[in-house]
Amino acid sequence: MLNKKTVNDLNVKGKRVLVRCDFNVPIIDGAITDENRILAALPTLKKLIADGGRLILCSHLGKPKGPDPKATLEPVAARLSSHLGKPVKFLADDAVVSDAVRAAVNEMKDGDVALLQNTRFRAEETKNGEAFSKDLASLADVFVNDAFGTAHRAHCSTVGVTAFVPESAVGYLMQEELKFLGGAIQNPARPFVAILGGAKVSDKILVIKELLNKVDKLIIGGGMAYTFFVAQGHTVGDSLLEVDRVKDAKEVIELAKAKGVELLLPVDTVVTQEFNRDAAYKTVPSSGIEDGWGGLDIGEKSRDIFTAALAGAKTVIWNGPMGVFEFPNFAKGTLAVAQAMAALDATTIIGGGDSAAAVNQLGYGDKMSHISTGGGASLEFLEGKALPGVEAVQNA
Ligand code: AMP
Repeated sequence: MLNKKTVNDLNVKGKRVLVRCDFNVPIIDGAITDENRILAALPTLKKLIADGGRLILCSHLGKPKGPDPKATLEPVAARLSSHLGKPVKFLADDAVVSDAVRAAVNEMKDGDVALLQNTRFRAEETKNGEAFSKDLASLADVFVNDAFGTAHRAHCSTVGVTAFVPESAVGYLMQEELKFLGGAIQNPARPFVAILGGAKVSDKILVIKELLNKVDKLIIGGGMAYTFFVAQGHTVGDSLLEVDRVKDAKEVIELAKAKGVELLLPVDTVVTQEFNRDAAYKTVPSSGIEDGWGGLDIGEKSRDIFTAALAGAKTVIWNGPMGVFEFPNFAKGTLAVAQAMAALDATTIIGGGDSAAAVNQLGYGDKMSHISTGGGASLEFLEGKALPGVEAVQNA
């Protein structure tokens, strides 16, 4: 399926291997609060260490526009070191690559691991500029891209660098992501159900339209459902609404009919008069949202209908929570979907971002077949777009 060179095709003994990881993890006051992306990088790193490579790791973290002490990757080096059971030397340098960094790399022995500073400390990173791409390439004999989360971006550390390193491959995480997401859209076991939620129609409209060509059922919840309610002729009070997307929502409803896809929208919704954790709430039909009230979750009837719609599914893709799951009173819809998916004998795929956080937070992470590490990348892939970070890697 994937015609790219992989880490299994490499002979890295004694070679300098530049590995693009996705260590874009949440860090609060210097502490990593979710290390899933670090854990996901370990299989590739362990393989390359065992094969005697000299590993130079790189990643971006956050969106600094240049050097910013708050965005240092140093905490990641410490955490990685404890997971790998060996020192990970942090090559702190605001220029990311410098003569001092090159000298440190030249000192490395087989199996050693070093981590470069945040690639976004170099402003050219996001412009795919040649100078920084060449700087990165000067550290490496081989380049491995295992950063699925940034595979949809053509940056120096994902695309530019490949032009200046003699050999390149994808890592195990990248392979795993492409296997699950690619398998679902190319050759899904049926019935195939997609569940889309989250805040905005505009973020997901392309993926909704693409998935309408593939799925048997499409379930829509979360903040974006209210734009569909308006498309159905209801009013939505203070709920999230993208007026300029009502046309798209109508089109999706029509397309689903034309393609014979069963489209399920919430029949009821949990509404409040204020947006906060402890707000008083009640459940109303989707057609009964009064002025001054806004929907923060799907209602009980919708939970039951969505759960029933998932029964018997063989492939499920879920992207976007059903409500404001960060507040426990409004997490019930998201929880119901997680529970229903966990109970299935099916390939269950979580499309990264907030749904991945929700599923992990609610304790269902290990019940899913695959949780993507890339929200934006998985959406673009499901939209049918090529991922530049994958395309740039050598063919097998
Ligand atoms: P996304 O990143 O598009 O998947 O959106 C996730 C965010 O959507 C989460 O932070 C949720 O709190 C938010 N969200 C989900 N449902 C609603 C809703 N009914 N009203 C407001 N925000 C929502």
